[in-house]
Amino acid sequence: MSTSTHPVVAAATFDPVDAGLAVLRRAEHARLAHVARLPAREARFAQYPAWVDGQLRGELTERGVARLWSHQAQAAQALHEGRHVVLTTGTASGKSLAYLLPVLTDIAAAQQSCAGRATALYLSPTKALGADQAQHIEALGLSHVRVATYDGDTPSDERRWIRRHAGLVLTNPDMLHAGMLPAHEAWASFWRGLRYVVVDECHVYRGVFGAHVAAVLRRLRRVAAYYGAAPTFALASATIAESGAHAQRLTGLPVQPITDDGSPRAAMTVAFVDPRTAAGPAADEPVSALTRAGDLLADLVGRGVQTVAFARSRLGVEVVADRATHRLESLDLGLASSVAAYRGGYLPEERRDLEARLRDGRLRGLAATSALELGIDISGLDAVVLAGWPGTRSALWQRAGRAGRSGRESLAVLIASDDPLDHFLVGHPQAVLGAGSEGCGMDPQNPYVLLPHLAAAAAEVALTPADEAYFGPQVGPLAQELVRRGLLRARRGGWYWTRQERATDLTGLRGAGSTVEIVESLSGRVLGTVDVPRADAVVHTGAVYVHQQRPYVVTDLDLVGGTALVARGDPGWRTQARSVGAFDIVGVLSSRAAGPVTVAHGHVTVRQQVTSFLRRAPDGSVLGEHPLQLPERQLPTRATWWTITPEALAAVGVAQAAVPGAAHAAEHAAIGLLPLVAQADRWDIGGVSTALHPDTGLPTVLIYDGHAGGAGIAERGFEQRQDWLRNTRAVVADCPCESGCPACVQSPKCGNGNEPLDKAASVLLLDLLLTECSGDSH
Ligand SMILES: [Zn+2]
Ligand SMILES: [Zn+2]
Repeated sequence: MSTSTHPVVAAATFDPVDAGLAVLRRAEHARLAHVARLPAREARFAQYPAWVDGQLRGELTERGVARLWSHQAQAAQALHEGRHVVLTTGTASGKSLAYLLPVLTDIAAAQQSCAGRATALYLSPTKALGADQAQHIEALGLSHVRVATYDGDTPSDERRWIRRHAGLVLTNPDMLHAGMLPAHEAWASFWRGLRYVVVDECHVYRGVFGAHVAAVLRRLRRVAAYYGAAPTFALASATIAESGAHAQRLTGLPVQPITDDGSPRAAMTVAFVDPRTAAGPAADEPVSALTRAGDLLADLVGRGVQTVAFARSRLGVEVVADRATHRLESLDLGLASSVAAYRGGYLPEERRDLEARLRDGRLRGLAATSALELGIDISGLDAVVLAGWPGTRSALWQRAGRAGRSGRESLAVLIASDDPLDHFLVGHPQAVLGAGSEGCGMDPQNPYVLLPHLAAAAAEVALTPADEAYFGPQVGPLAQELVRRGLLRARRGGWYWTRQERATDLTGLRGAGSTVEIVESLSGRVLGTVDVPRADAVVHTGAVYVHQQRPYVVTDLDLVGGTALVARGDPGWRTQARSVGAFDIVGVLSSRAAGPVTVAHGHVTVRQQVTSFLRRAPDGSVLGEHPLQLPERQLPTRATWWTITPEALAAVGVAQAAVPGAAHAAEHAAIGLLPLVAQADRWDIGGVSTALHPDTGLPTVLIYDGHAGGAGIAERGFEQRQDWLRNTRAVVADCPCESGCPACVQSPKCGNGNEPLDKAASVLLLDLLLTECSGDSH
């Protein structure tokens, strides 16, 4: 017993899930809102299809893959028959094997028969994932398949070899956009032989980034067609709603979804925790998901439950690790040094050391960001704690899946952080555990995105009206716009790029527009960057900017030069920008009316101007307001909006004076809950509400995409508005606060200092809006 790492329990009778639940049930760990047990799932097997390459099958069998899981066989067969497929099964369900079977078989067959080259392209959103995949394939040791990674680091002599000889090329959408497609002639034999395109992690391609990648994939199909190829698309995705529709928007092709997961899963217990109703935190400590996660990590470790706690930021990881260490010190079990923080960016040997200490039990607990997902192997832990909703269901299951990998039952704990979405989920666990309606919003027709890609397409192969087949009905109008700007020339038979510059330099895929650099005046050190419209509110002259918990004062915002100069120091107050917002309705794309309620989706121009800032003392009281001279920002985008008559509001008890507060509170809560139906960041969505809008003449609540041209988020909200509004109403009505709090109707990004807000009236307003969804069901 001398080397025993755990003083409390004996291994033989120890059930970590029971022990973890016992810790959670103690009142000091806030309120345990719900516990659900997900049963284990049995594996369903299938045989290898007969067409699979013999050597490949042999190598796989030797590595223990004697049979396939049912979804792998189903997807491989469909791809082999030339059908486009999107595979949407759980983490560790072997999605890559499903597409590698037809891809590697075809490449090997061509290489052996000398019947010409067969090629495939693999696209991943990150370099790390591509490298991971390359390693995975090389480990198969297939002598007759040439696999190569093509990215920014590939040396030029190697590039020549890849263009001429590689069978499977692994790259990313950015390289395809800026490297392979513009130089397509050098890749002629690669395109001619192109059989498959694999799009891995395709749920990442949503919003504006998704629209860019959709345009690049259409350019790829067009260039391939120029060389006579029509590749089959294999897409892989984390679980999202309507994966088939998403894959179809992304590729422009009909795609068959495969969702029936045949891989086995160990049982898991999921606990939902509301940190607010704790037995009474000390007055000086806020009840936050992070402090609760720290306490819980300490107590689980204290009970012998090996645990990893995920926080959403590096700073959050510090808070969790410090809190856990201090608590363990006070418990005096000799375990304080058995908890560590993992922040990413570690050297390989440091990672291996961490893994070894986790494995032999010297390390009992870890606080980590999601960097851990790709960083180290932590299989075999007992429990996962999540401080705050990780953004999507798939991210939740990915993190939760880090425990209990060896087939043992595990525990996952979700602690709500201080926003409406988290509190809704902890109060409505079915929204997490059920099928859900969380899909990827994206608009491949966004003209702001499409325009530069049409220029790039014209530079690749002259653009003609027939290219509507790829890019839709805007080809003509947008090409004429490019001619007007002197970028394309119209000649007989099409539009041509005749300039010296590279057309692809007109746009990147992930660009966020212009930014402001935050520079410390004394040292000249750059602390960070902010997107331009947001800079007005965050780094205006006089703002207190907090960087890594240290306050700085902005001494000058220079919008022309793109810099904000800051000086280190704490003036003893914080600042909050105030802005005025308005919108013009430019065009209605779709609308429904039911009695006094109308809901619409369409084009709008949102006008926003930061007009002043407040200085607030540490207790929140206002010390003064100071005017600012900043330009009005105009954002042409897409939105969903509701109007309702004042008479209908009065009839349910919302007096005229309460209308602004009701609309404003409903707007905030609706923004908070939209990510549940349309994968998005709360910060990518904006809202404006008014008691009387000049275009509608009525009280109006408008929710818009925060990117020019729209990102498909508000559109998805329009389609799923029944779920969206029902969730919004529930989070407001069920919140125990009296008159509004950050967990329901207050918003940290409100330009009006969260005024006015009328929580009670907003529930009545939302009830009325919901009558449109249930009333005249269409
Ligand atoms: Zn509340
Ligand atoms: Zn607001």
